[in-house]
Parts: sequence; C-alpha cells; structure tokens
Amino acid sequence: MPEVRSGLGWDLHRLVAGRPLMVGGIEIPHDRGEDGHSDGDAVLHAITDALLGAAALGDIGEMFPPSDPAWKGADSRKLLATALARVRESGWEIGNVDAVIALERPKILSHREAIRDSIAETLGVGRERVFVKAKTSEGVDAVGSGAAIACWATCLLISAEAPV
Ligand code: MG
Repeated sequence: MPEVRSGLGWDLHRLVAGRPLMVGGIEIPHDRGEDGHSDGDAVLHAITDALLGAAALGDIGEMFPPSDPAWKGADSRKLLATALARVRESGWEIGNVDAVIALERPKILSHREAIRDSIAETLGVGRERVFVKAKTSEGVDAVGSGAAIACWATCLLISAEAPV
C-alpha cells in the first residue's frame, strides 16, 4: 500500500499600487498587486506550504527567510520548485493540489485554465492533478475591500515507490 500524506497551506498578501498581480505564476491585469518580499504570489506560497507541511519539511518562512536578500523580488515559481525538489528528495510525489483563491476583483474564472497550466508546469505534473477555484468575500473584510488576496491550498502526497 502506498503511503499518503495530506498538506494544508494558507497565505495572504496586501494589494498595493505599482505591483503586478501574480496569481499562480500568471500576471493578471489589475490596478494593484501583492506587496511582499518575493513577487508576493499568495497562491504559490500557499501551495508551497501545503507541500512542505505534507512532507513535514517545515514551512516557506523557514526555507526562504524574508531576511535573506536572495529571495527579494523572487519569482515564486522558483520558491515552489525549490521546495518541491526537497519534497521529492524525501520520497514523495504529488497526488493532487487544490486551492481556493479569495479575491474581490478582478474575476479569476477567465484566467483559471492558464493558472492551472502554470502551476502544473511548475510542479511537473499533469493539469488534471491541479485545480483552483476563486471566491469573493462578499465585500466583507480585507479581501472584500480589495486590500488583500488570500489563498488556501491542499495537497496529497503519495510515496514515490508506488505508482501515481
Ligand atoms: Mg506569502
């Protein structure tokens, strides 16, 4: 029997003028984007934390400390790929990744397939193993006011010696 592990990640970034809005490695046209030490891609950060948690390898803040200038302005696809390499070295393969993006605007649906493809390519898995859904916050809280983007992500890891 293959071993399986589930992981959960969450992230939130403030949205500010003068920054690109990065969602799963794709730039979405908008009048503001994520503030952050890296490119601020909350979706990729949540997925990174889900993978690291499932493999019990720590979290994104430990692996890529904000105090380390190496990660300033970093493409979050590089962070995710680096974390994933550690996960694979530990003997795990990805079963699937699922995510919920909380963003008041713009609407994500028309970008969803491009986001799935971007995440799947970064993870080196087929797009059928990756899904993202988007929700607004009904005008309530920091997401609802347009001041932030948040993301919840889950993953399933399967022991690599088993067929996946
Ligand atoms: Mg983050």
